[in-house]
Amino acid sequence: MESISLQLTALFLVTIILVMFVKKTKMVFDTDRVFFCLLISVLVSILLDISVSNFVELGTAGNSGLFSKLYLWSLLGLTYIVSLYTVKIVERKVQFNDSWLYFVMAIPALVIGLIGLLTNAKIVPIGLGFFSGWYVNMIVVCLFVYCFVCLFFISRYREKITQGYYASGIVFYLLLCISLSIQLVLKEYAILSIGVAISILYMYMEMENPDDYLDHASGALNDYAFSEWGRDALRRREGVRLIIISLPDVGYIKNRLGNKVFEQYIRTVFLSMKELRVGKIFRLDSGEFVLASKSSETEEYIHKKLVMVFQELHTEFTSMSSDVIRYGSVQSFGDYENMQSFADDLWFFLQYLREQSTEELLVLNDEIVRQRTNEDYIVASLQDAIVNKRVMVYYQPIYSVKEQRFTTTEALIRIKDLEGNFMNPEIFIPIAERRGLILTLGDIVFHNVCRFVQEQKLMEKGFHYVEVNLSTVQCMQDNLSAQLVSIMNQYEIEPGFINLEITETAAVQSDKVLLENMEKMRELGVTFSLDDYGSGYSNLDYVINMPFRLVKIDKTLVWDSVKKKKSKILLETSISMFSKMNLQIVAEGVETAEQATYLEDLGVDYLQGYYFSKPVCEADFLAVLRKNGIV
Ligand code: C2E
Ligand code: CA
Ligand code: CA
Repeated sequence: MESISLQLTALFLVTIILVMFVKKTKMVFDTDRVFFCLLISVLVSILLDISVSNFVELGTAGNSGLFSKLYLWSLLGLTYIVSLYTVKIVERKVQFNDSWLYFVMAIPALVIGLIGLLTNAKIVPIGLGFFSGWYVNMIVVCLFVYCFVCLFFISRYREKITQGYYASGIVFYLLLCISLSIQLVLKEYAILSIGVAISILYMYMEMENPDDYLDHASGALNDYAFSEWGRDALRRREGVRLIIISLPDVGYIKNRLGNKVFEQYIRTVFLSMKELRVGKIFRLDSGEFVLASKSSETEEYIHKKLVMVFQELHTEFTSMSSDVIRYGSVQSFGDYENMQSFADDLWFFLQYLREQSTEELLVLNDEIVRQRTNEDYIVASLQDAIVNKRVMVYYQPIYSVKEQRFTTTEALIRIKDLEGNFMNPEIFIPIAERRGLILTLGDIVFHNVCRFVQEQKLMEKGFHYVEVNLSTVQCMQDNLSAQLVSIMNQYEIEPGFINLEITETAAVQSDKVLLENMEKMRELGVTFSLDDYGSGYSNLDYVINMPFRLVKIDKTLVWDSVKKKKSKILLETSISMFSKMNLQIVAEGVETAEQATYLEDLGVDYLQGYYFSKPVCEADFLAVLRKNGIV
């Protein structure tokens, strides 16, 4: 093949790569910018190659060879940029923090360039493809040295970079060395440009593939891109601000409307955000986006725009949901030491946002960071309690109106923090759920209850059953019933002696898995209570479809019924409705004699509250039973 065809092919190839790169890549990383410079330098070098070997100085041996020198310098330049790219790729994984390294690396190329400028180095063209002369040899040696040093460099950090990066780095430099060597042997053919172009194509496909950083469902950058970008931004100490958008009810849309509609929704969200043109957009979790902005617009301004955009979208896609979109802002991003310490706060902030029900822009401030630290303390206390067997169970006796005595009890978890103070279950249970400790705690509680029932022979003493709380997370486990049944067997507990309390939230979130588990246990004799009735929204579907035997009216509804007329109506109507459904009713939070009489008159079957007894430790609970003639 004619040399010019090879060179033109190379030109064509690199131009295509450049167009694809510019079109697809979002210039998120330092390496993107360096790769862009690399493509430009390769293009310049190919153009010089074409002009030198075909038009400008063809065969004019002995001239000053300015264009030939320019061509050789462009080779030096591009080799330097390639090595810079290599260092930057490794740097994403290994912190060097030595910007002087970039300059040291440039020294050989600069020195050789200078020598060419200052001396009257002769460049003699050989055939169409290459040159000879001592200066040319010097450059060739320098190119090889760059390649070998880079090969050594990536091998040195082999463990740190990904397998793909390592392999493609090796192949790239080998391709470069081979085409350089062939060029030196086959001086007649201008093979070098096509060799470089192919190496670059390979590198583009392996390392700069923008797909690795894309979230395909939405079109935004993915969470991997976010962590890599964040690392880069923190190292450069860039003043970026982050705005977090947390969509409502993602699970709902996904479950009810199907994955296709969900992806359409996510994509529309992304496109609408993109139209604002205020920064890079990342999608972290299924419903969480981060907008990284360097623009001069304030967060408040961007927030207002987002609210406007989403108001339309929201009605289109999630008209059935009453939930809101939450917005958070992180202004202090630049102050973080590294991505790890930021990730901890960000993660907590996301949880925090999900629990809010406002469209206001919430700022990640010291108070929230303090809460996170506090949460870490609670987690440490929980872990310590688990390891050192400090998890306790207290029992609150429950009064049967019919039998006029305590016939059942609710088991309630109790844990002291590291300083020995009791922690509030309403605070630590949700934390244990978030931080993956609830299954262990649930297990410990259930073991504890079964052991206590067996030790005290509660089943043989006219006591009806013990109520044990199940967390939402427990209810989502496929093997829930197998697990509980095996513990009951271990302590020889009659399944009928266990009543499991399931909250509405749990019933809503895991209907199918939970229902199957409930059926299995119900067949064995376990009974179920719907817990916390009246504390939130009530979807009575679950009362109908799930095999509950009891409904526990939450203490808030009991208390509100004294103060608010509507609550009183709700309470009274609910009681009469549940009675008609043959469900037994437990009222929680009974604190006064008046409340007790009032609820009794309404037809409540069981009363639970401080008026009768607070939750107490095993020994005190036994004392209460003894006083009542039960044990
Ligand atoms: P819950 O299931 O609604 O439990 C009843 C709560 O009301 C208990 O709070 C109990 O001490 C309290 N209470 C009962 N009567 C009265 C009263 O007359 N006045 C007042 N002010 N409070 C009363 P506790 O023990 O702090 O537990 C809070 C919540 O933590 C429980 O609410 C339950 O959701 C959860 N929890 C407790 N133990 C466990 C457990 O072992 N597993 C799971 N998953 N959750 C648990
Ligand atoms: Ca309960
Ligand atoms: Ca309750």
